[in-house]
Amino acid sequence: KSMIRLEGVSKTYPGTTVPAVEELTLDVPEGDVLVLVGPSGCGKSTTLRLINRMIEPTGGRIIFDGRDVTKVDPDELRRHIGYVIQQIGLFPHRTIADNVAVVPRMLGWDKNRTTKRVDELLDMVGLDPSQYRDRYPKELSGGQAQRVGVARALGADPPVLLMDEPFGAIDPITRDRLQNEFLRVQDELQKTIVFVTHDIDEAIKMGDRIAILRQRSVIAQYDTPQRILAL
Ligand code: ADP
Ligand code: ADP
Repeated sequence: KSMIRLEGVSKTYPGTTVPAVEELTLDVPEGDVLVLVGPSGCGKSTTLRLINRMIEPTGGRIIFDGRDVTKVDPDELRRHIGYVIQQIGLFPHRTIADNVAVVPRMLGWDKNRTTKRVDELLDMVGLDPSQYRDRYPKELSGGQAQRVGVARALGADPPVLLMDEPFGAIDPITRDRLQNEFLRVQDELQKTIVFVTHDIDEAIKMGDRIAILRQRSVIAQYDTPQRILAL
């Protein structure tokens, strides 16, 4: 079953003449990790922003869970699609627990349910809740802050995650650990994920499939070795 499908999608930003993406066609089956890989400026972030409707396409169609995204209520879309970026932008004057609780609170969950969920999420990303719940973002390492960003994106248990170079600014050793933990958690959660990176090694490690972008459009798509071996 297809969860996200892009059909000939184009985007030209206002005030520019060259499209950022052009005639892009992609299909992400439910439960798969699709990695978009390519050099800086080839349109990876634009593609993610089109999927969650931070921006609107200038051509083509985007289908989310069988429905044209333009017909899905934006609030519903936000509940169903978690978004993780490199500069996660935690609120500096709020505790880790308050940062992770953003989405549950937005959904009007009561205090008990929210607290329980926050602890569960911190556990899931490998941060001991009793130790980290009441800390502030500046007291965390880069890797730990990124974990909090992932926990926040998982707040309402969205079926879909968009991840834009989530481990990009992390040192290589920590990054390797975060990648491994991500794969372990994903094995359990089976989210539908579009994962953006410019690092081909990361793409092969993280993806079920990879789509190679070059200057605005996909030039090739492959199953990664782990997918081929799982068949
Ligand atoms: P990537 O994520 O692969 O680095 P982007 O999607 O960020 O690429 O950018 C694709 C192209 O669109 C680039 O040429 C970039 O300069 C341009 N672009 C991105 N955002 C905007 C914007 N808000 N306004 C105008 N041009 C943009
Ligand atoms: P992670 O693998 O989670 O990114 P690091 O390996 O970067 O963690 O950091 C190792 C330890 O150093 C962590 O347990 C963290 O508590 C501590 N640490 C790193 N940076 C800071 C900081 N700025 N303030 C407090 N503790 C820190």
